[in-house]
Amino acid sequence: MRKITYQEVVDCVATLCQEANYNLGEDVFKAFETALRTEESPVGKDVLQQLVDNANVAAAEHVPMCQDTGTAVFMVEVGQDCHIVGGILSEAINEGVRKGYGEGYLRSSIVGDPLKRQNTGDNTPAVIHTELVEGDQITIHMTAKGGGAENMSDMKMLKPSDGLEGIKNYILDIVKVAGPNACPPLVVGVGIGGNFERCAFLAKKSLFRPIGERNPDKTIANLEEELMGQINRLGIGPQGLGGSTTALDVKIEAEACHIATLPVAVNLNCHASRHQVAIL
Ligand code: SF4
Repeated sequence: MRKITYQEVVDCVATLCQEANYNLGEDVFKAFETALRTEESPVGKDVLQQLVDNANVAAAEHVPMCQDTGTAVFMVEVGQDCHIVGGILSEAINEGVRKGYGEGYLRSSIVGDPLKRQNTGDNTPAVIHTELVEGDQITIHMTAKGGGAENMSDMKMLKPSDGLEGIKNYILDIVKVAGPNACPPLVVGVGIGGNFERCAFLAKKSLFRPIGERNPDKTIANLEEELMGQINRLGIGPQGLGGSTTALDVKIEAEACHIATLPVAVNLNCHASRHQVAIL
């Protein structure tokens, strides 16, 4: 049984929190480059360039690319042949968030009670999803998920008879309603199937897949591309000022579901699509 110390997890998570907020991923930069070539609106192009410039300044000066430094969301794959010594995983992750956000001067954006609305002051607690996997390593995926895009996300239990057309219309409606409020250009994460709570998880999980990487299932991959085209013809554009770049990508994860159900969830991500990964 391989041993990984509590402190290793804390330090790793602290670094991920800062890296995610300072450095936009290569995949997002590449998507911006493509969008700058294809965007039809001059205003849209100008906004895209400003977003790229903003991300470059953030990386060079080690400052967050957006004032909304997000909810710290983790997808953690824990190898069943490793063991954390000195504490438990969830506490180590939350201590890492506290350290990373505190030492990185990142805004604390979490209220401890949704009704009393008092800021916890250190961006904890994080949202942590864990999965047991083969091996003796821990893979930690982290995203700093913006509140604006999260607010415009949605979930619906469609009827099986709504079929593929119903799914597509629902996703397009959510993007239309979001308009500028989710800070486009978006990454549109979609979950199809599972059950009520699993479907929302799938939509979130899809956002951790790098931009440009298609679902390995050919039918789902084709649906991602079709929806991407339809969304970019809505005319919402960068920051909602009009144009042909409303989405940088569409990601779909699909799973088995009950014969009576067709759950669909849309988790929108903004242009500050921040995700980082580390392996311990
Ligand atoms: S939704 Fe994204 S871009 Fe908009 S304010 Fe929040 S983090 Fe920033």
